[in-house]
Amino acid sequence: MERRNFIKNVGLGVTATYLTGKSLGQSITNSKKTDMENIQTLEFPALPYAYDALEPYIDAKTMEIHYDRHHRTYFNNYVNAVKGTPLENLPLEKVFASVSTAGDAIRNNGGGFYNHIIFWKNLGKGSSGPSAELSSAINQAFGSIDKFRETFNNAGKTRFGSGWAWLYLTADKKLAVASTPNQDNPLMDLSPVKGTPLLTLDVWEHAYYLKYQNKRADYIDAFWNVVNWDEVNRRYKEAL
Ligand code: MN
Repeated sequence: MERRNFIKNVGLGVTATYLTGKSLGQSITNSKKTDMENIQTLEFPALPYAYDALEPYIDAKTMEIHYDRHHRTYFNNYVNAVKGTPLENLPLEKVFASVSTAGDAIRNNGGGFYNHIIFWKNLGKGSSGPSAELSSAINQAFGSIDKFRETFNNAGKTRFGSGWAWLYLTADKKLAVASTPNQDNPLMDLSPVKGTPLLTLDVWEHAYYLKYQNKRADYIDAFWNVVNWDEVNRRYKEAL
């Protein structure tokens, strides 16, 4: 049933949100395209589903405002910040690797542009759960799936102010969980948390306030109903 709804919602999303070419939507069906290749084009990526696809866990109004206003503003501001600079044609991964020298506009808006792309893609209904490989790595790193969730939830709940919770792969290929402030992410040279992002959760108030108000913990609990594990599994495999 969940799977059927997901397909239906994706279908409905086509007219509303799918764009053409090197878009976020296309990369869902073409897993050989990496996020970085998409981002390098400096196009604002399509949302890979309709605004109401994650109801009731994430409501359509929040999705519309979050994607079409917040995310789009980060994108526009990033494009303006890099225009005419040597960073203009660099993939975000490279920009983040020396972002400490690039200034706050590029750090904040580049992070906002990138983080939301990862976030939209790791949301969706009807995925089958962590792969055998990822499950085994999660058990090894955290003891159990439940312990992993608890650790991730705590990262999101205890992030003071605005930020993100992450599951990421460290340079020595170990799974880790942490949060970052504002629009920072584990690819940034200035971040104390470093690695390849696998799963992320936006804990800015704009991500949940319309539906959950001050109850961030309820939003984090609801998030687990709409994690697109197929995408997390794909990112894990690619990062290894
Ligand atoms: Mn956000």
